[in-house]
Amino acid sequence: MNPDYVALLPQDAEDRDRVVIEWVMSSICNYKCSYCPDILHDGRIRWPEYDDMVDFCSRAIRHYTALGKDVTVLFSGGEPSRYRRFMELAAATRAMGASVAILSNGSRPEAWWTEALPHLDEALLSFHIEQADVQHFSDRVAQLSAVIPTQVNVVMVPDRFAECLAISDELRNRHPAATVHYKPMMEHWRRMSGGYDPQATQVLWNANMGGERPVRFPRGTLLKGDMLRLAADGAATPVTPIELILGEDNHWLGWECAIGQETLFVEFDQVLRSVCGVGEPLGTIRDRDLIFPVGPVTCTRASCTCIAGIKASKSSPNSHEVPLPTPTVRTS
Ligand code: SF4
Ligand code: SF4
Repeated sequence: MNPDYVALLPQDAEDRDRVVIEWVMSSICNYKCSYCPDILHDGRIRWPEYDDMVDFCSRAIRHYTALGKDVTVLFSGGEPSRYRRFMELAAATRAMGASVAILSNGSRPEAWWTEALPHLDEALLSFHIEQADVQHFSDRVAQLSAVIPTQVNVVMVPDRFAECLAISDELRNRHPAATVHYKPMMEHWRRMSGGYDPQATQVLWNANMGGERPVRFPRGTLLKGDMLRLAADGAATPVTPIELILGEDNHWLGWECAIGQETLFVEFDQVLRSVCGVGEPLGTIRDRDLIFPVGPVTCTRASCTCIAGIKASKSSPNSHEVPLPTPTVRTS
């Protein structure tokens, strides 16, 4: 069904001028979570060459900063902290004028993070109950959140739901500087996993669908925050990306979408506008003549299932004749 609004915009106006380049660097990980696709941890895909990565970052950052954008490079994986030259890469990326964020399982020891922290602007730590040591993880949340914005995703494994809930709440109480999310497991990013019992489903639904939601994505995060649904009269309703997926309000076929303008996705050495693949692959990180996007694309997919892609601004074909209205936030 077509949405009854004319645009979906980042709630924080600064996010509209921020490009997040997410880089899935390798399939090397020290964990082997049962719910993780092999491609993210089977160790078959090694890190790209260091010089290629630095060269690509340099070209990408130059392109987007020339357009007046702030750039954040989010290194993910696999497990990016396993990369031997991570500190060097993060330092080099920062020296180019970009911010650096890491998506990590937090398993590295305290000393590793002490060395990494001066090169990081934000961290997104995922807690995986099957593999992680709770005390170690909590200590790392304390270590990082004392210095940089830190978000925590506790993956809510259905058959250990009560434990995950208790750990999430403990982390939230112990580390008020961090933002702790209950991360529901999804089926193909289309719907919440059917493995939750009714009570767990209700907890996750309430947490992610308004009402009792304990936290929203914080404003001011370099990884971009919540969105606004903008009606034709300018009325704007805040909404989270996960809320859009769970509420099945994630159909923007034919809309203009700013992936490539506000996002870039690198899968090992392949460069795309976003995970959805709309707009065709742009090339590899080694292509010196790779042309970085300057404008939006028209969405060709029936539904949108990736958080980073959802966070890119979108406008309906009907909004082309008239300028988008100035948002007036309506909170209820
Ligand atoms: S830590 Fe992340 S990448 Fe590693 S196995 Fe678990 S889910 Fe996969
Ligand atoms: S599927 Fe891709 S192009 Fe379509 S709305 Fe989502 S992110 Fe944008």
